[in-house]
Amino acid sequence: MWGLVTADRVNQNRLIVVLIDGLSNEVAQRHLGYMEGLVEEGIALRARVKSILPSLSRPCYASIFTGTPPQVHGVTTNEPAARLETPSVFDLLAAVSRTSAVAGYHWMSELFSRGPYDLVRDVEQSDNESGITHGRFYHQDEFPDAQLFGLAERMRRTENPDLLVIHPMGCDHAGHKHGSASREYAGRAAFMDGILATVLPVWMREGYQIIVTADHGMNAFGFHGGPDEAERITPFYLISQRLPSPVATQDTIEQTELSALFCDLLGISPSATMRPFSPSRKAQWFGL
Ligand SMILES: [Zn+2]
Repeated sequence: MWGLVTADRVNQNRLIVVLIDGLSNEVAQRHLGYMEGLVEEGIALRARVKSILPSLSRPCYASIFTGTPPQVHGVTTNEPAARLETPSVFDLLAAVSRTSAVAGYHWMSELFSRGPYDLVRDVEQSDNESGITHGRFYHQDEFPDAQLFGLAERMRRTENPDLLVIHPMGCDHAGHKHGSASREYAGRAAFMDGILATVLPVWMREGYQIIVTADHGMNAFGFHGGPDEAERITPFYLISQRLPSPVATQDTIEQTELSALFCDLLGISPSATMRPFSPSRKAQWFGL
């Protein structure tokens, strides 16, 4: 295994989360060849995540990073542009003087930094004292994924954040335009896999923990929000030196468990409102 022998251990409490907007588990498993290869080789653990309902972007972002359902954080549609009051992973890191960086859609800034979004004020953010520490945000769904990874990688190198979140929109955008059964949607997933195949070897060599997942999926009509598997079940890949034997599991994690898992991997305590990560699964995965 790469991790135990050769990886740098300096970054072992650091985490990189790639949140691929709108990528269903089914399409990920068919088109993310590099990621599936890491699973085959025993380098990445694979599971699935079941999104909250409605399976819409803004409620999902809120649940992923606060560990609470929409009934608690209050975001039940894509509309509310105010910053969340429910504590997020970003808030918890800032409270213990650790840092985060997000390269993502401007709704992430609204939820976890400041809202409503003001393009000129908020497009680039540095050294915020609460919420997201450093940010690079886009507001057009057509924003190029490869450009976004460049911005994120630059923040990783210059700011050295404890948590880096990269949130590309290309898959979601293609899915809305062409539907989940289209050549275009599959092609965006395959393109994303190529980006991951470029950046992950560097991050693994430097000893980062890495999660690749999505907020929600997509249906054949080109939308999402409902409880169907295509809209709700997303991929989940985890790379961490703490995993004694990464395998392809059949586990389905609740989306509201992700925050507590992020906290565990970062070595900080979850908030009182975050749903705990299943103790039996934790024991199985991490051999505790
Ligand atoms: Zn969408």
